[in-house]
Amino acid sequence: MPEALIYELSSPGRYAVAFPESDVPHAAPPDGLERDDLPLPELSELDLVRHFVRLSQYNHSIDTGFYPLGSCTMKYNPKINEDIARMPGFAFAHPLQGEKISQGILAIMYELQEWLKEIGGFAGISLQPAAGAHGELTGLLIIRNYHRDRGDHTRTKMLIPDSAHGTNPASTTMAGLELIELPSDARGNIDLEKLREVCDDSLAGLMLTNPNTLGLFEEHVQEVVRVVHECGGLMYGDGANMNPLLGIVRPGDLGFDVMHFNLHKTFSTPHGGGGPGSGPVGVAQGLVDFLPAPIVDIVEPGDEGTAPTFGLVKPLKSIGRMKSFHGHFGMHVRAYTYMRMQGKAGIRAIADHAVLNANYLRVRLRDAYEIPFDRVCMHEFVMEGMWPDAPDIHALDISKRIMDFGFHPPTNYFPLIVKEALMIEPTETESKETLDAFVEAMLKIADEAHTSPETLRSAPHSTPFGRMDEVKAARELVLCCRPAYIPKA
Ligand SMILES: *Cc1c(COP(=O)(O)O)cnc(C)c1O
Repeated sequence: MPEALIYELSSPGRYAVAFPESDVPHAAPPDGLERDDLPLPELSELDLVRHFVRLSQYNHSIDTGFYPLGSCTMKYNPKINEDIARMPGFAFAHPLQGEKISQGILAIMYELQEWLKEIGGFAGISLQPAAGAHGELTGLLIIRNYHRDRGDHTRTKMLIPDSAHGTNPASTTMAGLELIELPSDARGNIDLEKLREVCDDSLAGLMLTNPNTLGLFEEHVQEVVRVVHECGGLMYGDGANMNPLLGIVRPGDLGFDVMHFNLHKTFSTPHGGGGPGSGPVGVAQGLVDFLPAPIVDIVEPGDEGTAPTFGLVKPLKSIGRMKSFHGHFGMHVRAYTYMRMQGKAGIRAIADHAVLNANYLRVRLRDAYEIPFDRVCMHEFVMEGMWPDAPDIHALDISKRIMDFGFHPPTNYFPLIVKEALMIEPTETESKETLDAFVEAMLKIADEAHTSPETLRSAPHSTPFGRMDEVKAARELVLCCRPAYIPKA
């Protein structure tokens, strides 16, 4: 009964574990809150374990299958990260427990700030933002306040290339800035002429994702930075795509003034199913005073042989607090563990392999699929999921069909500047054998699109669930399973 709900598997009297009789007094909950008619499912341990393991594999599971989703959360989540994050001193730390007994926690946050400074080439870091988009808002508020602090009230325009992630324009609007879209040229770079045209003293800054959402490194990045700085604007870097730059290029050295990292994209912290992310923001020297408070700093240097004392400090012109307490500390622990496990050389190797893997796939697939901006890519690339001579086939059909081969679909319909986009990011940790198997499946699908299109249009065939009504699923969320006789709240 693979599709059974847990209540349907229930059988009265079965149980998975039996607890010993309590040897402490029963602490009753407040009146009216205790219920003895709570209908919980009754299952044996085997039924329970099988049920949840089965669920974890519908329709795809990252522990069993390759997951080439582009522009997205990282697919490699080393198990040791979880072990360390679950250590009681971290997992049960209370946000109000005080600095004196939180020295180990503050030390981890401090060290993570230091690593991110070094990796990004920045003078200061805030670990507060809860995700990339939240980091963008934080960074943009820093830019806005920087201009205002100088009495420069006319600087309200943010330039954003059309290859940007959708969160960039959204964050800009939320930060009260005005959005101007910049077109890309035929190689996927910013159109420099257009850039020069719109740069004037109303410019707050430019938001650049580098590499951009096509997976392409901006070939004129230094010129872009120069033009923006020359007319008094600041450079915002969307660092969601840092993987291919690690240990090779530091955005701070390129002249970026502010950048967010996505720990859940670059530093192996999980962010699936809406779980917590983390989007630390790095800034250049001139902006450190504006960082959100609090920041972890050394408040008393250690003597020889003793550790320094860490504390929480508020930068002078801080934009204020962006998140309750200190951000998603569990994610900080995971990212820090990952960095320490990799070491300096390992971090550089991440970039090498991310670029190698993506280019290997790009070159092996480019005869079968149209790749509109076909030049050396960074950690991901975008191809068209359509052929003029197979008019009934769309990117969605390809994505559904690839599931029959045990692979998670690539990102669909993003970025918007490529028709029927399929965005593929293999992740640096995948082996050549896995990449080859994916290529074989994609080549077979390209062939089927022309010889038996119906096979694609009716896919997936092998997963427990076929094509779902995604709009209905989002509108009518069912987040918990209930026995049929309990009315929905
Ligand atoms: C994912 C992503 C974001 C947004 O990050 P979240 O953590 O999902 O909020 C912003 N820009 C780019 C380029 C991204 O890929």
